[in-house]
Amino acid sequence: MTQILITMGVLGGINGLLALLLVIAEKFIANYGSCRITVNGEKIFEIQGGSSLLNSLKTQKIFLPSACGGRGTCAYCKCRVLDNGGTVLPTEAPLLTQDEIKNHVRLACQLKVKKDLAVEIPEELFNIQEFTAVVEKLEDLTSDIKLVRLQLKHPETIQFKPGQYVQLQNNPYEGVKETASRAYSIASPDSDSRVLELIIRLVPEGIVTTWVHQYLKAGDEVRFTGPMGDFALHEGEGEIVMVAGGSGMAPMVSLLNQLEKQKSKRKITYFFGAVKRSELFYEEVMKRFGERLVDFTFVPALSQPDPDDHWSGKTGLITRPLDEYLQTIDTSKVQGYLCGSPGMIRACIGVFSQRGVENDRIYYDPFS
Ligand SMILES: Cc1cc2nc3c(=O)[nH]c(=O)nc-3n(C[C@H](O)[C@H](O)[C@H](O)COP(=O)(O)OP(=O)(O)OC[C@H]3O[C@@H](n4cnc5c(N)ncnc54)[C@H](O)[C@@H]3O)c2cc1C
Repeated sequence: MTQILITMGVLGGINGLLALLLVIAEKFIANYGSCRITVNGEKIFEIQGGSSLLNSLKTQKIFLPSACGGRGTCAYCKCRVLDNGGTVLPTEAPLLTQDEIKNHVRLACQLKVKKDLAVEIPEELFNIQEFTAVVEKLEDLTSDIKLVRLQLKHPETIQFKPGQYVQLQNNPYEGVKETASRAYSIASPDSDSRVLELIIRLVPEGIVTTWVHQYLKAGDEVRFTGPMGDFALHEGEGEIVMVAGGSGMAPMVSLLNQLEKQKSKRKITYFFGAVKRSELFYEEVMKRFGERLVDFTFVPALSQPDPDDHWSGKTGLITRPLDEYLQTIDTSKVQGYLCGSPGMIRACIGVFSQRGVENDRIYYDPFS
């Protein structure tokens, strides 16, 4: 037994060493020279091989969505690679369906450009632009959620659909030399195209949120790309039931602004989850929507209120009041809109399905 374990350990060590040598060789020795990328059969450009397809396209101002910043987890940077893409990598396979693999769909962040490539990219992605903006205001909404208001500088305006997001890029800061970009949903109305409001929750040790919360100041210049994403309001007559937690508030505010602008007569019920009273925010904003929308109800729920909170509202995880409510209404035309952590979204989809809201009437944006 001991001998088997030693043999396995030695083999594992050799494998690890070989993998490390390959990575080093790839970084310092491999030279792929100049490679030609043809996009949609018409745009052709030459780049120095060796970078990911995602970054190579970026050098030509073609910005594919990449909410995870190129780490191969969000799968938003899918595109078709018609020539010379090679076989799908183990890092891509779990995020591609069999049909996508057959159709030569790849993750642009994982595919390294080593040869001439022909790629196909949906036309609407060419609308994604790179922006610079100035931080007009930073405001603490809770102890770990900030409102960031940006005044656009170049270009001076942005056209977006409520529900969409932008990818904000950090500047290097103490201890972090790299720049990364992360997705943040737009919280402001599309009626003022010169400003953007983002609602950003601090993630412990997170690259971009640490920068936003601890280093960013009013007057600083920032960069972002956008707009991206297809989370949006859908046509329908039935009730709208929204569910969000934490910074998941952002796209909901944007959708509520749109409903207000449309003078929508639809019934809207919005469930918002927090742990305790100090994590609730935008109650005034919700009150104003209550005054301006024909039939709007905001239902905050606390999962662990402090005794000092003197909370008399709904309690428990947000799935509880959601489930109780769905049992009291006719759900045959209800549309569900969800935003927050993947876990919360999964749990809420389960509740909606159980109460008769079909999957094709549930729309969501997981903040993964
Ligand atoms: C469509 C979409 C919209 C979004 N909208 C919003 C929004 O409006 N507001 C909002 O607050 N968030 C939003 N998010 C989430 C946001 O994009 C970021 O994921 C989040 O802010 C964290 O970014 P970060 O750079 O601070 O953290 P990251 O640096 O990405 O780190 C996240 C966590 O992973 C850990 N980690 C990082 N690298 C590694 C590693 N190599 N190995 C192990 N652990 C690691 C970190 O320690 C940290 O705990 C959205 C996400 C999506 C997909």
